[in-house]
Amino acid sequence: MSYEAPLRDMQFVLYELLKGDEVLPALPGFEEASRDIMDAIINEGARLTQNVIEPTNAPGDREGCHYDPESKSVTTPQGFKEAYQQFAEGGWTGMSAPVEYGGQGMPHLLNTVAEEMMCSANLSLGMYPGLTHGAVNALLGYGTDEQKDYFLPRLISGEWSGTMCLTEPQCGTDLGLIRTKAEPQADGSYAVSGTKIWITGGEHDLTDNIVHLVLAKLPDAPKGSKGISLFLVPKFLEDGSRNSAFCGGLEHKMGIKGSATCVMNFEEARGWLIGEPNKGLQAMFVMMNSARIMVGIQGLGIGEAAYQVSRDFAKDRLQSRSLAGPQAPDQAADPIIVHPDVRRMLLRQKATIEGCRALAYYTVMQLDISQHSDDEDARERADDMVQLLTPVVKAFLTDEGFFCANDGLQLMGGSGFTQDWPLEQFVRDARITRIYEGTNGIQALDLVGRKMGMNGGRSVKRFFGMVEGFLKENADAPYADQVKAASEKLQRATMWLMQNGMSDREQAGAAATPYLRLFALTTVAFFWSRMALVAQQQLDGGTTESDFYQSKIRTGQFFIDRILPQADALLAEIESGKDSLMALTAEQF
Ligand SMILES: Cc1cc2nc3c(=O)[nH]c(=O)nc-3n(C[C@H](O)[C@H](O)[C@H](O)COP(=O)(O)OP(=O)(O)OC[C@H]3O[C@@H](n4cnc5c(N)ncnc54)[C@H](O)[C@@H]3O)c2cc1C
Repeated sequence: MSYEAPLRDMQFVLYELLKGDEVLPALPGFEEASRDIMDAIINEGARLTQNVIEPTNAPGDREGCHYDPESKSVTTPQGFKEAYQQFAEGGWTGMSAPVEYGGQGMPHLLNTVAEEMMCSANLSLGMYPGLTHGAVNALLGYGTDEQKDYFLPRLISGEWSGTMCLTEPQCGTDLGLIRTKAEPQADGSYAVSGTKIWITGGEHDLTDNIVHLVLAKLPDAPKGSKGISLFLVPKFLEDGSRNSAFCGGLEHKMGIKGSATCVMNFEEARGWLIGEPNKGLQAMFVMMNSARIMVGIQGLGIGEAAYQVSRDFAKDRLQSRSLAGPQAPDQAADPIIVHPDVRRMLLRQKATIEGCRALAYYTVMQLDISQHSDDEDARERADDMVQLLTPVVKAFLTDEGFFCANDGLQLMGGSGFTQDWPLEQFVRDARITRIYEGTNGIQALDLVGRKMGMNGGRSVKRFFGMVEGFLKENADAPYADQVKAASEKLQRATMWLMQNGMSDREQAGAAATPYLRLFALTTVAFFWSRMALVAQQQLDGGTTESDFYQSKIRTGQFFIDRILPQADALLAEIESGKDSLMALTAEQF
């Protein structure tokens, strides 16, 4: 029942599909990222997550976090602290952080593989170091040298952790409504006052200090989102004194119960400005962009964990006979994996997870190229892809991660619903990933409202260019015709949006979610074609792993036959426009 890191599939994507062992070491700064080193890191990550992290998952869910109103402190579930310590001591918190601040300077892609394993093994525990990454990125991008020298080594070593404090009772999506205030002080610091809610890792016992990155308004700030600044507010100040940033309580919630979701009260807490006044959202987006990809990886990780449990169950559970006649005549019944409807649920998980892994790892490799290549054009091209695909990765992988967990639970019947099996926890844990870090509806608006038109539509044109280029060079690649047809539908939807969504923003809003899904299905189909081509070449070359490669081609075929056809319905939904959505008055609901 326990998690086994899907190393073979990870390596397939890393090396055989993306050629990461050639591309990454050729980038300045990543010379050491050879296949041997990457394999060693991934194998060690598998050992840690399987043996140390995963055993804390179910007990952590049952126990949850504890709040002590007296001391305003939070204790994480038993075993979390020891597991986190091993994680930090192993250097995992600083895997892709710069060497000059104590990190290991490895590619983000490698960190992403480790994150996937962590999220499969224990999503709640993975949240604590996950949020710290965002704080590190914001400081790297916008901190002063002094701030970087003091905070970064401690955050990167995992000795301290970070938070992202945006949400307030009256403001979630619409950050322009923030009320938290920051008053300038004579010594150059700020007194930060206000209440933040739902703050992940706002208070806990895993690290010695917690560094809060807080959005607040200066006294003379312009109204709305243009008047927001970012402040760094540590729990303990440099002289060791306690800052007045206190946890007011824990949220009682559906899932990720081992992750402390806190109300945070800032009572004239000492803080320091990060970046320029009133430009806080810009800095926050640096944190959010990497965090959004990470949340997509959470969906992937949970989906994989759910698939593994339900797959093993489907092979064990005996119920009814196959429609084609008994398959295990010496047993009382056949294993349920013989039934087409059970296979539908299993294959849907397998086909989307493997396709999503390719999409996510590709996107993160573009992030590495965009930050490390010495070729300006290559950096720009890679950045275009990262910008365009980030909302797709966040929304599609978290939607699918949840659907996989749900399918896994359904496949297991009543067993899936009980606490004897981890599926009910996976479903509860996966649900939040579609909401936080910008709901998936907001990701869709980001795709159609910002990313599509960015640089005169350059990213989207490059995306279509990439698909067309592949199809031209590989006209006989598996599923090439279906990928071409899907790409044409996506182009038609893109044209529709350009013609209708620019003049009428409600049309863009109405099309956004089906458009993002159509985009994701087309992209994943494209990666399936590329993966199946690699597999076909291996089979033609007489590989000794014919089962693995045959399974790839067959799984890809399932995606093309039974998932990609949704593209037609999505296109029809987009082209139906906003009328039926907007026709009812509020009273008619
Ligand atoms: C467990 C958990 C952990 C969290 N961790 C953090 C954290 O660490 N830091 C932090 O700052 N926040 C955190 N959050 C808050 C989270 O990011 C917000 O819940 C999320 O951004 C949505 O905001 P909201 O809940 O206020 O929903 P609202 O903004 O009120 O939205 C409600 C609904 O309206 C939709 N909607 C809103 N505006 C639009 C629009 N313009 N167009 C279309 N639809 C729209 C939304 O998609 C949603 O469906 C956490 C939340 C939870 C539950």
